[in-house]
Amino acid sequence: MVTLYLFAGTGKEPNGLKMKIHPETIDKIKDAVEITEVIGDYISLKKRGANYQACCPFHNEKTPSFNVNPVRQIYKCFGCGAAGDAIKFVMDMDGVGYMEAMKHLAQKYHIEVREEEVTDEAAVRQNEKESLDIILNFAKDFFREQLTNTEEGRAIALTYFRERGLSDPIIEKFQLGYSPSGWDALSGHAIRKGYTPEQLENAGLSIRREGKETLFDRFRERVIFPIHNVSGKVIAFGGRILKTDKKAAKYINSPETAVYHKSEVLYGISQAKNAIRQADLCYLVEGYTDVISLHQGGIENVVASSGTSLTVEQIRLISRFTHNITILYDGDAAGIKAALRGLDLVLEEGLNVNVVTFPDNDDPDSYMRKVGSTGFTEHLHAASKDFITFKTEILLADAGDDPFKKAEIIGDIVNSIAKIPDAIKRQVFFARVAERMKIEEQTLISEGNKILRSQNTQKQKDRQRESARRVNEALGGTAGIEPPPDLFAEEEAPLSPADLSGDARHRIEEECVRLLVLYGNVELEEGITVCHYILNEIHDEEFRNPVFNAILSIFKDKIKGADIPHTDFFIHHEEPGIKSAAINWTTPRFEVSNLWFDRHEIYVPTELDVLPKSSLQSMFRLLKHSLDEEMKVLVKQLSLDLDEAACTDIQARYLDIKKKSVLVSKELGIIFG
Ligand code: ZN
Repeated sequence: MVTLYLFAGTGKEPNGLKMKIHPETIDKIKDAVEITEVIGDYISLKKRGANYQACCPFHNEKTPSFNVNPVRQIYKCFGCGAAGDAIKFVMDMDGVGYMEAMKHLAQKYHIEVREEEVTDEAAVRQNEKESLDIILNFAKDFFREQLTNTEEGRAIALTYFRERGLSDPIIEKFQLGYSPSGWDALSGHAIRKGYTPEQLENAGLSIRREGKETLFDRFRERVIFPIHNVSGKVIAFGGRILKTDKKAAKYINSPETAVYHKSEVLYGISQAKNAIRQADLCYLVEGYTDVISLHQGGIENVVASSGTSLTVEQIRLISRFTHNITILYDGDAAGIKAALRGLDLVLEEGLNVNVVTFPDNDDPDSYMRKVGSTGFTEHLHAASKDFITFKTEILLADAGDDPFKKAEIIGDIVNSIAKIPDAIKRQVFFARVAERMKIEEQTLISEGNKILRSQNTQKQKDRQRESARRVNEALGGTAGIEPPPDLFAEEEAPLSPADLSGDARHRIEEECVRLLVLYGNVELEEGITVCHYILNEIHDEEFRNPVFNAILSIFKDKIKGADIPHTDFFIHHEEPGIKSAAINWTTPRFEVSNLWFDRHEIYVPTELDVLPKSSLQSMFRLLKHSLDEEMKVLVKQLSLDLDEAACTDIQARYLDIKKKSVLVSKELGIIFG
């Protein structure tokens, strides 16, 4: 029995009483929670049969392997193994404890949280994040109160917001506020309410002058923009000064705290996420006021990187909701350069990126106020350019007729295109740029391939290292199964199809062992079991995945004594990797590999309908598919400017694969035809 505690979140007794949530409230929350709604607040779910799917928010992936089962109210990622219920999901996404997650869910489902005093003092542990959350919320309320209910706030800050055309609902939506003049308006008020100087400092709200006891407010005399995390919790503040003071920065932000990591945050994400999901597009702007101004104009799928140049974490945050991003930048030279910098990073993450600039040095905020929402939307459509066109135009205009500069530009643009993970998209851009710059497409492709080759070598090394690490981790570090040596081996061929064959290979191996574990004993024809059949096909081949290979070895070993192990043997196996794999496979098939089947357009209605025989058929289809894909890649490689030795090597590999492919086709014809 776990006892659940938290600190009173009301601000009334922040330092005093320790409270816990009443068990009745916990039951209410658990009853109300609908996992698809909870997860849907964070990532975009797509319905697939009885389940929902998405790209996993816990690991980086381009094709969805994250499954949500609404019947069982659980989620599972077949890529990284993340799994749990709605509460676990909120805990992991927001990086909070159990209690905090429960409070978040209570808020979502409008459940009043009943709390009771905890008498067992020893059981109470203060959670730093929960404590920060409380004081940040307190500060937010204070700033809002100052904005609307004080003379200074109304005269200075509210007037400013009104002048910028912001309505009450928008001020409310972004919880805008005002931090008054004087040294310690907030600090003094908070301490009178029982908060400690240390809490105020930890939250980044107050600063202690060196060698002195007294605190002063970080955000004195500024309008306040609370910064929320994706689930809508205040995690930091931005403050803008209104009077002209040459010594003071126009904007200041909270420092990094236990809950605020600037590089991972996008301003406005909590207010924008649903609109982003619906529009399947995210506008990216630079400032708080740009975001708010666009909302005021009815465009809600917009976030800001708040002055920092775009980070990978921020791009991944966006890609939870959409893969299309349009960057809106100021029309000045600095803005354009900033745009160029951000773009390659977005491309690398596989997102589609467009750019819109604004005329006459307007920024999105000022332009919206100038032309209104209809004019703004028209401009977005008319001026939106894909990044390659944008970059080519900007750089060409800069270079004029200088041939050396032009050569430099080609290198620069090819470099950007090479960052795009999707080969077909790369091809489209090569063609487009070739036309635009009036050069041979083949010149660009050759340049691009040089870059790709060096990138691939590096990526491959990284991937091998990473997969070795994961295998080791999955096996508990010292599980005794050494990763096979070829996991570390250098791939000698250039432009290897590692992505494709690596993934496909893993799926084939998994499908083989899954069939062995589930149906090894089933007879396909008299005296020939699934186990006999598969082992015969595999011959003496080893699997690359150590867990799969270990299972394969067990079958190879046991079949000699005609003792084919049952599913239960693996479910209760002492090796944790084998055990968990077997448990995974015993859950209904549509959960295990619906993605796999969707991708190959083989519809599998339910597990019951799927006989081992047709599973085998699927396995060989996939195997053939994977071999064919590999051949295509090799053919492409042959068209590159390779040296003779490399060509011979590729040709040999091609013939080898071709042979296998023909064999597989034959098997498909004989066994299933
Ligand atoms: Zn995952």
